[in-house]
Amino acid sequence: MPEGDALHRVARRLQPLVGEHVEVETPNPRAQIGGIAETLDGRRLEAVEAVGKNLLLRFEGGLVLRSHLRMNGRWTVAPRGAELRGRPWLVLRGSRVEARQWNGPVLELHTRGIPRLGPDILERPPRIEEMAARIRRGDQRRAVGDAILDQRLVAGIGNKWKAEALWEAEVSPWRPLAETGDDALRAVLDAAARLMRGSLDGARRRNRVYRLVGRPCSRCGTAIASRGQGDDNRIAYWCPGCQR
Ligand SMILES: [Zn+2]
Repeated sequence: MPEGDALHRVARRLQPLVGEHVEVETPNPRAQIGGIAETLDGRRLEAVEAVGKNLLLRFEGGLVLRSHLRMNGRWTVAPRGAELRGRPWLVLRGSRVEARQWNGPVLELHTRGIPRLGPDILERPPRIEEMAARIRRGDQRRAVGDAILDQRLVAGIGNKWKAEALWEAEVSPWRPLAETGDDALRAVLDAAARLMRGSLDGARRRNRVYRLVGRPCSRCGTAIASRGQGDDNRIAYWCPGCQR
């Protein structure tokens, strides 16, 4: 699944289209409901930004197109007029480049406002206190590893950075919020922001727990464990030795 940092990279690659009056097409029949092409074609694209795992394309007239890629969606950017094979959901064509969004699955046109999302973990600087406050307003029996994936509380953290941030902060994904102090919670959020910002800026860092089940922890040598967590049962990875 594309995580927040990958979406920020896409947002950067789409910047050449910003400020242009773009041609908008929706070649895939599944994307043709909602009149997106009809409404947006020829409008000026004012901004492209990643908010959590959503890409928001703001057009003149207060129109916002929200793209969420879920598991299989992706964006490609090609020179204007480059050969097109297949049927992307969306084509945005500017004077120099065209962007194509493949495999949907979420493409929504909003005329005002967007769904409520938590503060973006990649904001500079990240609003750690607001994220922590949102997390504290919810059910404190919830596990910390589950809460930080909730995009209404913190936008942008995906499964990989969840695992890596919890390892950095030495906090188990299974620890209930009620038993997670404010310092520990802040440490987890700080680690996620730092690691993801580093990744966005091109830093190389090897994974410490993510997809390393059975391998020895680089901090304490205990074998890395994994188990499904939360409503979506996404796999959590952690070190039972040093993440209490
Ligand atoms: Zn360990």
